[in-house]
Amino acid sequence: LPRIGVLALQGDVREHARALAGAGAEACEVRRAAELESLDGLVLPGGESTTIGRLLRVFELLEPLRAAVAGGLPVFGSCAGMILLARDVIDGRPDQPLIGGLDVVVRRNAFGRQVESFETDLTVAGVDGPQVHAVFIRAPWVEKAGDGVDVLARVGDRPVAVRQGCLLATSFHPELTGDIRVHRLFVQIVRSELGLKRGRT
Ligand code: GLN
Repeated sequence: LPRIGVLALQGDVREHARALAGAGAEACEVRRAAELESLDGLVLPGGESTTIGRLLRVFELLEPLRAAVAGGLPVFGSCAGMILLARDVIDGRPDQPLIGGLDVVVRRNAFGRQVESFETDLTVAGVDGPQVHAVFIRAPWVEKAGDGVDVLARVGDRPVAVRQGCLLATSFHPELTGDIRVHRLFVQIVRSELGLKRGRT
């Protein structure tokens, strides 16, 4: 089975681990840089991007994660995880650390006060079957996306799920609904990346 880590500094780690296991991966919690080496993929969970970013510095994970993303590690970020993967953030805290790698600018807490949290059904490209029930909790949206970024889902005209190569990000929380199709999509990305890697060596 592909081995997929869940960054376990803060956020809904267990829910992601459970969804990954259901989607056919071996899930493990990651807190140390050395643990990145054995991974075929990584999930950055939702939570609070500023807190996770600060902890990434404390645990000396920021540079190793940047290197891992640059080295082609497949990563799925949901909500705060999407923010961490972005190259830039609007309405972030000053000096909020980002991992980057995904060529998007996100707007943090984008949906505003009245709809801070909401649920809706979305068509997500790459996910077959009925629409995905999407839970948004003080979620970001993608404000700007580079040419290499595919938009997989939108709320209105705002991208809320994107993919760039083996990087996947959603504004919403697929780990909270029991519908593991988005995690399956990520496991599929991890598997095909593994296949490519084996083909190269
Ligand atoms: N608003 C949070 C942030 O800025 C993200 C919320 C979430 O992950 N549910 O990081």
